[in-house]
This record gives sequence, C-alpha cells and structure tokens, in this order.
Amino acid sequence: MEVLLSGATILTLDAMRQIIVDGAVCIRNDRILEVGPRPEVARKYPDAIIHDLQGKVLIPGLINTHTHLFQCLLKGRGDDRSRSDWGAIVRSSATALSPEDVLAGAMHGCVESIKSGVTTLVDFSYGNPREETTEPVVQAMEKTGLRGIVGRGYVTVPIDGGGDSLSLVESSDDALAHADSLIKRFNGLDARVQVALAPSMLWGVDEVTLAETRGLATRRGVLIMIHVSETAFDVESALARFHKREVVVLESLGLLGPDVLAVHCVHCSASDIEILKTYDVKVSHNPSSNLYLGAGIAPIPAFVRNDVTVGLGTDGAASNNNLNLIQTLRVAALIHRLDPLSPSVVTRYKVLEMATIDAARAIGLDHEVGSIEPGKKADMAVLDLSGVSTMPSEGPVSSLIYSSLGHEVESVWIDGKLILDQHEIRTVSESEVIHDASISALNLGRRSGTLL
Ligand SMILES: [Zn+2]
Repeated sequence: MEVLLSGATILTLDAMRQIIVDGAVCIRNDRILEVGPRPEVARKYPDAIIHDLQGKVLIPGLINTHTHLFQCLLKGRGDDRSRSDWGAIVRSSATALSPEDVLAGAMHGCVESIKSGVTTLVDFSYGNPREETTEPVVQAMEKTGLRGIVGRGYVTVPIDGGGDSLSLVESSDDALAHADSLIKRFNGLDARVQVALAPSMLWGVDEVTLAETRGLATRRGVLIMIHVSETAFDVESALARFHKREVVVLESLGLLGPDVLAVHCVHCSASDIEILKTYDVKVSHNPSSNLYLGAGIAPIPAFVRNDVTVGLGTDGAASNNNLNLIQTLRVAALIHRLDPLSPSVVTRYKVLEMATIDAARAIGLDHEVGSIEPGKKADMAVLDLSGVSTMPSEGPVSSLIYSSLGHEVESVWIDGKLILDQHEIRTVSESEVIHDASISALNLGRRSGTLL
C-alpha cells in the first residue's frame, strides 16, 4: 500500500534543488517511490492513503552530525563555567554513568531530536570503557524510530591529567575489539542504526591506536569521527608533542580519508583546510557549542569555498543546551557574518544543505537520505511555517533558517513510518521519557558530585 504526502511545498534538495509548490511524495514501505506535482502523482496512485499537507512545507529529515546523547542529563550544569570547570563536570559525569542513565539520556535526546525534525543523528558515545554504555544509545535510537550512527568512543591516554580522566582510559586492544564486536553485531545490510569508530581526539588517543583505527575502519567500511582543533589547546598540544599542527599529525598517521568526520575544526588554518580537502575529509560544524564554550568561530566560509563538505551538529546538550537543530540553523547562518565573504558563501540555502544533503554526504549516507528523491529512504519532516514568528514570509527557506524557533515541526517520517504525528511522538511516551531523564539527571548529579 502506498502513502501520499499531498499538497505541500516540497524543498527536495535534489541535484536540481527543485522546490515544488503543491507537490506530492508517494511512499512505498520504507522508500520514496515518486516526487512531483500533486495532480500528476495523485493520478498515478489513486488508492494511496492520503495525508493532506496543503499549506505545509515538506523537507528532507534533518541530520545532526554530532552530539553526545548522555549529556542530555547535564543540561545547564555547565552554564557560566570556565572551559576547564565545564570539562571537569562533564568528565566526572561520564565516569559515573550507569547503563540506565545512558538509556534515559539517549531516549530524551532522540525524542528532542525528532521533535525538531531530525531523522538521522550521529552520537559520539564516550562513556566508556564500561562497555555497557554504548548499547543503550543504539537501543534508544531503535526504540524511538530514529536513524543513527553511534560512534563507539575511546580514550587511551589520560586526558587533562585529572583523577577522573583515568577511569575513562582503556587499552587500545579492548576498545577496538569491543568496537569491532558492536560493528559486526549491528551493521547489517540496511540497518537503520549503525556503529562507527570514535577516537576522542589526538591528545586522548595514542598514535598506534589511531593507525589501527584507520585499518579497522577500512576493513569494516565504517565512519571515523574525531574531534579536531576545537580549541587553541588542541593545536598547541600537538605542536608541543609532535612539533606539527594537529591535522598534519593525523595525516602522517594515515588516519585521514573521505570516511573521516572531523568535528569542530574551529582552529584550522588555511594549510589545514588544504590538507583536509586533499583527503576529502568531512567537517561537522557545531556553532552553538563553539559559542557556549568560547571555543571560537570555525572558518566555515573558507571550508565551503574550498568545496569541503560541512554538516551541522548541535554537539551535546551540556554545551548547547538543547538538541534542537532548527535553532542551530539560525546560529549557523548568523555566526559567520563577520567574514565579508559569508553572505555569498554561507547563504541560507547553504545552511539548509549543511543540515540535509551535505550532512548526509558528511556521514556517508547521501545515497540513502538527505534529499527527497525517488529511491531514497522516506525520511522527511512536515513544517508549519504559517505562525506569527515565520510570517509574513519571503519564502520557506528564509522562514526556516532565520525565523523559526524550533517548534514548527508538525510531523516526521522515518523509514516510511510516521514517527511524529501532529507534534506527538508515536513510538514512546514523551512524558515518561522526560520523567526518566529528570530522575537520572538528579541521580547522576548526586553520584558524580556535580549538582550545583
Ligand atoms: Zn563532541
């Protein structure tokens, strides 16, 4: 049986970047069968179940390329702190996580994501070395109906030298063996939730492990996500240890490639950008987090001008403090305005691409998601842009990027299923999810000694 999403203005994000007024999308099972003008598509599928979307805007499901779901339990706990105090709070919390906490935080983050139109989420899961802290993230995505990539995080050298950080350290063999076992278990053909590799950052992982990470990623065909040059410290520590810039070290270790998602890249130089471009490395841009932590402003106009693929991310809720990607669209459009080239490079349309088709390319899923095209997965969000904050409207892209507040998402389809229906999550109980996360946040705060 086919389903027809009928009558909306469709921002397809296809190769022609077509916008179809009074359009229709026909879904069969988990995939998009046809996209076009409503009268044409409706005539071909007279028996389809019709969802009338007249007056609405249909977009590809948004893609959040970077978060740490357990940090949903830490919302607000790092407010008004120095970067080092913030780091200490998050590390103490990460080391005290129970599997139940991870599940509660991840469920909350998945629901929050879906309600802001996100259909694919990339989690950088680093509550290890307790192995049982990765699987609840996979479970949360599976339960809520979200599509996702869960990066199995690891730290193999003590970070910051603090006492807490020692308990995050694990051996290279243990980390990679566990990651590999998860990849074998979850990355089946057509799996909606997949596992990838997440070495924390250059100063948290030894060189041998990074080289082995490359080998494992190539063997298994999985994404490598790693924090790169987020802060000035990241660059300085590489210079002190290796007498080279961080990106140059990663290149010399053989890590770089088109399957690498470099997260942040705030302090990348022109030569770093050149190297990342040479290896077709992708960038995850997290402007809200970079502002929250005072990390700086990533040179995104330069990346875009050099044709480096950039996807947007919220980062964890401990440095945002939400996972609402629509709010990040606005920040991403505004933050680069001090760069005189920004108005012609980081345009509102480019920002939309960074949350859809470019983000899909950034995580290696552009053959499946990121645009509304026949053959792709039926992952879409229905927006109501007729409210007071988005009207009068110059057009749906302007309204979405600059005027939306984040509550405009009315319905969400993932894998051909209606997951959010008129603002209501159909897969889980939203009130229970909020309740469980609130209890876990309190318990984790008590156990880790991080309550204010
Ligand atoms: Zn991060």
